[in-house]
Amino acid sequence: MKKRVLSGIRATGKLHLGNYLGAVKGMLELQDSPEYETLYMVADVHTITTPYNVDELRKYRKEVVIDYLSCGLDPEKSILFLQADVNEHLELAFLFSSVATIARMQHLPTYKDKVKQYPKDNTMALLNYPVLMAADILIYKADLVPVGIDQEPHLEVAREIARKMNEKYKTDFPEPKRFETKGQYVPSLKGEGKMSKSVEGSYVNLTDSQDEVLKKIRSMPTSSKAGGEMSPDVKSLFDLAKLFLSNISDFEKKFKDGSLQFSQMKDELAAKISEELKPLQEKRKEIEKDQAHVDKVIKEGTEKARAIASETVLEVKQKMGLG
Ligand code: AMP
Repeated sequence: MKKRVLSGIRATGKLHLGNYLGAVKGMLELQDSPEYETLYMVADVHTITTPYNVDELRKYRKEVVIDYLSCGLDPEKSILFLQADVNEHLELAFLFSSVATIARMQHLPTYKDKVKQYPKDNTMALLNYPVLMAADILIYKADLVPVGIDQEPHLEVAREIARKMNEKYKTDFPEPKRFETKGQYVPSLKGEGKMSKSVEGSYVNLTDSQDEVLKKIRSMPTSSKAGGEMSPDVKSLFDLAKLFLSNISDFEKKFKDGSLQFSQMKDELAAKISEELKPLQEKRKEIEKDQAHVDKVIKEGTEKARAIASETVLEVKQKMGLG
């Protein structure tokens, strides 16, 4: 039997370079491997764990599928679906919450960060985020999860839940591992932290025009002059550039000897990013014209995902004494 792969992106907005390089590139690589059966969802239920706008959620559930298709995810090779359409994820998450302690969830750095960001919205849903993610993965008994490095603490929770369930109820959940990509940590354009949809000015969207990309990259801060120690913001620029420029060592040399022109480096970087985004943007225009096809992809993907998910929930309920 083929090993399974599961990944997902929240429906919080347009996809950005961090999502693309940290998650989608890995999703693409695995969908082309004959060893794996790949399932990729829009994590729309995860979207409601932090404050959100109902109309935007409704819009972005489908927009993320369009982004997936534009990036090259192929419904002939991968099962593409919306998390909320497969109720079994929620059912399994509740069953899993019986082996996850509140203390463990409260100590997660990802949870603490979100509470800092949204102090008035420290909800049960937010605390449950990693339990739901464990259910997303383990409902398909997936071995591999192509996600960015920020998700590693959640994968650790998924492994712990798998172990506890296997010990207590004799289930056969695998301990899922993260599938790493070269872009597992894409830095913010603001000079500190990671590129993130929730930080305005930190990201390049996959749909940004050449001019928008150029403007955003040119505005990246570069506090230190060439030569000497790199300041954190200059390091961010280099970290981003490393993901796109093959001649990065030339720029590093120039930085060291003090001859680097940041503007030239930024313009080259912006041009390379736009070059990589152009085919995706052209494909997106074609896909947008055929909304019925997108709906069909979602419907068929949901049916396939449900067939697998319902079997796992039935098995778990029986083993837990609920069936
Ligand atoms: P999210 O938008 O938080 O649902 O994230 C969706 C996927 O994109 C997850 O696999 C994240 O790890 C990945 N991701 C988000 N931001 C970045 C980033 N700056 N660098 C690398 N991966 C990222």
